[in-house]
Amino acid sequence: MSIEKYAVIGHPIEHSKSPRIHQAFASQFGKEISYEKVLAPLDGFTQTLHRLQAEGYLGVNVTVPFKFEALQACDTLSDRASSAGAVNTIRFSDHQRHGDNTDGCGLVNDILHHHHMTLRDKSILLIGAGGAAQGVMLPLIGQRPALLMVANRSTEKARAMIQKFNQAAMAQGVTLAVSAMDQLTQPFDLVINATSASLQDAALPIAATIFRTHGLAYDMMYGRETPFMQQARASGASVADGLGMLVEQAAEAFYLWHGLRPDTAPVIAALRQ
Ligand code: NDP
Repeated sequence: MSIEKYAVIGHPIEHSKSPRIHQAFASQFGKEISYEKVLAPLDGFTQTLHRLQAEGYLGVNVTVPFKFEALQACDTLSDRASSAGAVNTIRFSDHQRHGDNTDGCGLVNDILHHHHMTLRDKSILLIGAGGAAQGVMLPLIGQRPALLMVANRSTEKARAMIQKFNQAAMAQGVTLAVSAMDQLTQPFDLVINATSASLQDAALPIAATIFRTHGLAYDMMYGRETPFMQQARASGASVADGLGMLVEQAAEAFYLWHGLRPDTAPVIAALRQ
C-alpha cells in the first residue's frame, strides 16, 4: 500500500513545525505518513493546491498568507471555516476539496486542557480583529462566557467583526462588546492577544488593571517572551503562549484526516525543549 501524503502550504514555509507535529502524532498510532512543507508562489496557491490533489495527497494544511484564498478554493466549507472566513485544513476526497478551520478550536482546547481554565460565565477580552481573532470568535462564544469584549487598534474593524457574531452570541447568552484598547480598565478572567504586535516586539496601549490576579493572559504568538506577556506576568496573571494552540489545531486537523485523537501534551513538551 502506498504511503499517505499530506503537506502544509505557505509562503514562507521553512519555519513551519507542522511536519514535526504530524509525524509525532502519526507515530503514536504506529502510522507511517509523509508530511511535507510546500512553498507556493505568492500568486500560485490554487495551482499548487490542485497539483497536490492531482498527485494523490489526502489533505493539506494552509498557513500565512493563503488562508483566505483557501476558502475560495474549496468545494465545501465547515461552519467553523465559514465563520472564520478562512481555511487552514483541507481534506481531499472524491475529487472534492473540503475546507475547515481548526485554529479556534485549537485555542479553546489548549485553554481548557493544558491551562485548566473553563470559560463558562467568565469575562474574556480578545485583542485584535484580524484573521486569527475572527477564527476564534465562534469557538469562544461556544464556551458561553458571560462577556466577550473585543478591542482592536482600528475600532471600526472590531465593530464590523462582532456584527457577524451577534446572532450566535445571543443564542448562547453571551454579551458581545467593543472598546478602544486604551479605554479599558476593568479586569478580565482571560485576556487574549490575537494581534501581530508581538511579532514586532511592540507593546499594546493597555492598562495593567485589565489582568486579573490568577487570571490567564494568552499570547497567540510563540517562541519568545513578548511585551504583552511581561506586562501580564507583572500584573499577577498566569501567562500562556500560542504553542499549545499550534499543536491543538494540528491535532484537530489530524482527527479530520485520520479519525484519531492524538495525545497532545507530550508533543507540546517536546517542542518546548
Ligand atoms: P492579521 O494580519 O490578520 O491581523 C493583525 C492584527 O494585529 C490586526 O488586528 C491588527 O490591527 C493588529 N496589529 C498589528 N500590528 C499592531 C500593533 N503594532 N499594535 C496593535 N495592533 C496591531 O494577523 P493574524 O490575525 O493572522 O495573526 C495575529 C497573530 O496570531 C500573529 O502573531 C500570529 O502569529 C498569531 N497566530 C497564532 C496561531 C497559533 O497557532 N498559535 C494561529 C494563527 C495566528 P488593525 O486591524 O488595526 O490593523
